[in-house]
Amino acid sequence: MNWDEFEHWGKHISQWSADYHKTLRDRPVRAQTAFGETAAQLPQSPPDGAEAMETIMGDFEAIVMPGITHWQHPRFFAYFPANAAPPSMLAEMLVSTIAAQCMLWQTSPAATEVETVMVDWLRQALGLADGYVGVIQDSASSATLSAVLTMRERATGYTGNRDGLANKGHMRIYCSDQVHSSIDRACWVAGIGQANLVKIATTGDRFGMDVDALRAAISADREAGHSPAGIIAITGGTGIGACDTLGPIVQVAKDEDLYTHLDAAWAGSAMICPELHRDFWADVDGFDSIVFNPHKWLGAQFDCSVQFLRNAQPQLNTLKIEPEYLKTTGESVTNYSEWTIPLGRRFRALKIWFLIRSYGLEGLRTRIRNHIAWAQEVCDEIRKIDGFEIVTEPILSLFSFRCPGDDVDQQRLVDALNDDGRIYLTQGSFRDQKIIRFQVGQFDTTRDDVMMAHSVIQEIWEKTK
Ligand SMILES: *Cc1c(COP(=O)(O)O)cnc(C)c1O
Repeated sequence: MNWDEFEHWGKHISQWSADYHKTLRDRPVRAQTAFGETAAQLPQSPPDGAEAMETIMGDFEAIVMPGITHWQHPRFFAYFPANAAPPSMLAEMLVSTIAAQCMLWQTSPAATEVETVMVDWLRQALGLADGYVGVIQDSASSATLSAVLTMRERATGYTGNRDGLANKGHMRIYCSDQVHSSIDRACWVAGIGQANLVKIATTGDRFGMDVDALRAAISADREAGHSPAGIIAITGGTGIGACDTLGPIVQVAKDEDLYTHLDAAWAGSAMICPELHRDFWADVDGFDSIVFNPHKWLGAQFDCSVQFLRNAQPQLNTLKIEPEYLKTTGESVTNYSEWTIPLGRRFRALKIWFLIRSYGLEGLRTRIRNHIAWAQEVCDEIRKIDGFEIVTEPILSLFSFRCPGDDVDQQRLVDALNDDGRIYLTQGSFRDQKIIRFQVGQFDTTRDDVMMAHSVIQEIWEKTK
């Protein structure tokens, strides 16, 4: 392809993209294809000869698009959102055009410096204290793994990387029973082991960690000769939106000299609203590490996960490695690849810059406040459907419900709704029962989109019961 052809196809694809978004409401939200259907339409081997872009684009529409679940659909109420606001998409086009590797300051000084400033814009937007620094990672899973590795190294006097983990005893990490599976996985990969991830029961109407039980677990572990290494708290768990009360956890960490990480992958975006920060994030400034995903609710195209650090040094002591070929000469600079596990880095900060400037914080706040209000409204309507029960009340914009019947009936309703295609919901589990989750957070969703879900649920329920 030469650059004249690129120009032609670039225009075609940006037109295609605008049309796609403008017609999204007419498509079924979840892909309606069966397993294997897409693969069966692809040739078994790669072509030897060149093919025309017309043909490739035609196949994209015919073969790929039917197998796509539309995450940008305004009636996507499943999982958590993965918003891609248009200015962030445009920034991504520029990033993929420049295609710079931003591992070191000198491999693109502007990328590093925009990142430093954007992390600080977000720090201010989220109301975090002066002094927090941070780095943009690909995912919350990576940020959490970085934090868990830091807990491990700190607990071993920074000898784990050098000597390995033999004879270091059982390092213990504490969290509630509502955390995301990325916390379990980080403990597996870090060599801590599932058995040493201590899950504390939750209490209260936001399902926060029982801090007395946390203290008891830590002291029992010390008595048993184990090494407590860190505490992981959560704001907005994936299942039902569980939120820990942060202050008492910070106090325990202080008393016990433990490193702390806060997973706010989804709910962190909402903390740009000062009233929500006050409500959910009192004492957040005690946390050593905090992760939130602008690629979920805020509107930054996937992927974009920000990890804030109260002090970068422990993580740098854990992850920084400097072979000769990566050394930079001259003044001391920030090399963000020293803060993370992957070396190569995309220029993710540009989409934050485009996003925040295009909407202003107030524009982004309005969306989040609307989503929370509409979630409450639709929840109150679903509550009125005969025999339905709200299992967990809205926490921010997430709630869960059950229809009459057993767990099989819940799944049957979810499947029937998703086969219908007008809305998309997913199931979850809470206290050994299957639940149906409902979250509001898609960037272009309207009150009508959200309220329509209630009548679709009622209609499909009448048909399937
Ligand atoms: C989505 C989510 C994660 C995982 O995020 P990735 O960026 O996909 O790794 C972790 N924790 C919570 C609470 C989440 O909602």
